[in-house]
Amino acid sequence: MQPVSFSIFRHASLRFGLPIFLAVSLLIGFLPFIQEWELAYKKAMALQPYILFALVILLSQSFSQGRTSLAAIAMQIAYSLADNFLSDPLPDNFMTLGYWLLAALLPLNLLQIQLQPDRRLLSRHGSGFIAFLLLQLSWSCLVVYHFQSSDFKWLTHSLLFNLQAWSPLPIILIVLSVMTIAYQARLVLKRNHSHDQALFVCSLFAFISFILIDIPYVTSSAFSLAGLLILLNLISNSHEQAYIDQLTGISGRRALETELKHLGRTYTIAMLDIDHFKQFNDKYGHDTGDDVLRLVASLMSEVDGGAEVFRYGGEEFTILFKGREQRECMASLESLRRRVETYPLVLRHYSDRPRSDTEGKNSRNQPSHHERQQVQVTISIGVADSYLEPKPERVMKTADKALYHAKATGRNRISNKTS
Ligand code: GH3
Ligand code: MG
Ligand code: MG
Repeated sequence: MQPVSFSIFRHASLRFGLPIFLAVSLLIGFLPFIQEWELAYKKAMALQPYILFALVILLSQSFSQGRTSLAAIAMQIAYSLADNFLSDPLPDNFMTLGYWLLAALLPLNLLQIQLQPDRRLLSRHGSGFIAFLLLQLSWSCLVVYHFQSSDFKWLTHSLLFNLQAWSPLPIILIVLSVMTIAYQARLVLKRNHSHDQALFVCSLFAFISFILIDIPYVTSSAFSLAGLLILLNLISNSHEQAYIDQLTGISGRRALETELKHLGRTYTIAMLDIDHFKQFNDKYGHDTGDDVLRLVASLMSEVDGGAEVFRYGGEEFTILFKGREQRECMASLESLRRRVETYPLVLRHYSDRPRSDTEGKNSRNQPSHHERQQVQVTISIGVADSYLEPKPERVMKTADKALYHAKATGRNRISNKTS
């Protein structure tokens, strides 16, 4: 299995589309189906969200995803309330108030988590938010018990009007939820942070379970799906942290080491190193150096012939050609070397970059103070294949020696010689 396969779950389109697809499938496929299940299965189903959200809290806590942890705690509380007090028979007059409070407070809290700074769960800020949740819970209990014998019919004909034939959820709360979901969906599509997915998923599935509260098992299945989707996202994220190099976005050293354990008989390894990169950094600055690393990584990703590319560390990269001998890879590598050499690299002036959007707009209307400076970088490449020596570590060592040979004989070249 290729370690990069999980990255698909981090695409904005999938983070948005998969929950919507599952929500629709839940409504048309699963809910009618679950009504036929045996009671024991249904009871097990009701336990599922507790387990899934406990896992989400545990994992997000250890991955320092503070917002996801807080959202999972809010969902855990909401689910236990819904499971214990709002399952069938339908909310009676006494519980109607609790239903309204829950359907109003959950989206508002999820929105609050989105807007507040991201802090770890076990920090002052995190425990402060949990205290805030518990405060709302106690206040809601007091309100519900205080008004338990009151009649709220007048409210459902005014402020909390609902279309009873369609859903017991008041229109105003539907509007609140839909606006929250739309805002969170927009963040997923535009910004696509990991916690954006979690908050979008929580709001969406909580809304489904509140709007369809009178269908049995809607709450347990909707909350289960939310928990599963967030878990999938967390696992995909931990994969990213382990295998993807943050600066260049290509696979990192650990991914390479995993790949080396799953090689066939024939393969070629190329080690790449940017020439005189220390001087380049000293002359143009570390940020420009980082831009060059990104550029080289992106040019490497264009190499054809099923090449897998990795950042080995620093300004060194590795290309792995599975199933190909050295001589079959030389043309691809030579064209990469030439592509880097001839790439017109225009320097960005980091110290002169606008500090704000308005400053940027103003300066764009004025003549530039600098001529845009164009520079070149070159790379040296050492290659070796598994023909004589099938052990991956040895092939890498040979490629590394060939790289030094390329450096010693003038740089900006490819070598397969070790001395
Ligand atoms: P040679 O042609 O022999 O490879 O010379 P060199 O200067 O490229 O080699 P050397 O190994 O001495 O220097 C590597 C430099 O790469 C040192 C360090 O400043 C730079 N470097 C390593 N990682 C990064 C990084 O992530 N960003 C930037 N901007 N520079 C880096
Ligand atoms: Mg080096
Ligand atoms: Mg170098």
